[in-house]
Amino acid sequence: MPKGEPTGKVVVKHEREEAVIRRHPWLFSGSVAKIEGKVQPGDVVDVVSQNGTWLARGFINPQSEVPVRVATWNPNERLDDEWLWNRLSQAWQKRVQLGIPNETDAFRLVYAESDFLPGLIVDCYAEFTVVQIYTPAMDRWRETIAEFLSELVRPKGVFERSDLDTRLREKLVPRVGPVRGESPPERLAVTENGLKFLVDVWSGHKTGFYLDQRENRLRSEPYLKGERVLNAFSYTGSFAVYALRAGAKQVINLDTSSEALKLAEENAAINGFANSVQSLEGNAFQVLRKFRDTGEQFDAIVLDPPRFAPTKATVPNALRGYKDINWLAMRLLKPGGFLVTFSCSGMVSAEMFQQVIFEAAHDAKRDVVIVERLGQSRDHPVLVTFPESEYLKGFVCWVW
Ligand code: SAH
Repeated sequence: MPKGEPTGKVVVKHEREEAVIRRHPWLFSGSVAKIEGKVQPGDVVDVVSQNGTWLARGFINPQSEVPVRVATWNPNERLDDEWLWNRLSQAWQKRVQLGIPNETDAFRLVYAESDFLPGLIVDCYAEFTVVQIYTPAMDRWRETIAEFLSELVRPKGVFERSDLDTRLREKLVPRVGPVRGESPPERLAVTENGLKFLVDVWSGHKTGFYLDQRENRLRSEPYLKGERVLNAFSYTGSFAVYALRAGAKQVINLDTSSEALKLAEENAAINGFANSVQSLEGNAFQVLRKFRDTGEQFDAIVLDPPRFAPTKATVPNALRGYKDINWLAMRLLKPGGFLVTFSCSGMVSAEMFQQVIFEAAHDAKRDVVIVERLGQSRDHPVLVTFPESEYLKGFVCWVW
């Protein structure tokens, strides 16, 4: 059988058909009426309605909560090597068209479903390309992906960081290491909007750096030029470096991870700001309370916490957490100070987050106006048929 040929059919329940027709790319196990044929995890399958109409084509993993990830709604499209090459080169062309490689040498080249490549993330970091593979179908294609990326991007090496949780939910074991070419160094230097950053692609968060925040770092730069800036949930201090370039006198990076803080100090130093940053290791919820008790004041505060709401059930608690830190941060700002605040929980909408800011302002007894609305950078585009691809939202608040 030629590569990319479907080995089976997945019959979708009548009442769930509409979602496939409306091009939502996930088929949940509850939507499957039956699976026909002897299918192996990673095989190509056709999705059909109960009366036999062809609806879509995708990849199967019977062991997953999402047994089918749809990759095409065109019956004539084969999911073979040629398809993979076309999708990868289109993703590359789109980034070039947006001018992203002119702004930075660290960006997301493939954002899974948003680039019609379910199960695959590809990030470029200067001379190295990092892949994150989290479905059996993409697992089978590992070598080919690396070969095609080498041809497209011409990196020194392709490195794999397939250690994300989704992989476990697909019943795949984690894999980290070089796939092709040279091994990346422990710390890779990238240049973003004229600033340098050291990235640990071996064990840093995500694939090493929060690329989704790149445009927000640049857009919030003018608001972070005050005397004293607090960068809470700083990770490797990327917002701090922008703040220092803008003219901030002193920036405190606050994080629970001492390793991230160490890299944050190096990031400040390689940009010439070694003497203007301070590291504070601790829990932001406690540290902000302590600052309140000791009467500390800031000109600007960045709040970029980790995802508080991984599931729907955790949303109420997450909202309380967001309100708590935002309320505390507002109390610590001088009148006319700026709060740059984010939520990366996909389950928390921009409307819900704005409501949180309203409640925090009310409790802090401060007047707050939103001067900018922020989202994920353009290399993480949102597929409108797949609202799950949107997760990051932020506000620049002016706090009086
Ligand atoms: N703004 C960063 C990304 C932040 S990611 C950037 O642009 O690079 C969230 C960070 O919050 C992680 O570094 C994590 O270590 C840290 N963190 C998680 N819980 C925390 C807590 N309770 N207090 C302080 N930091 C925390």
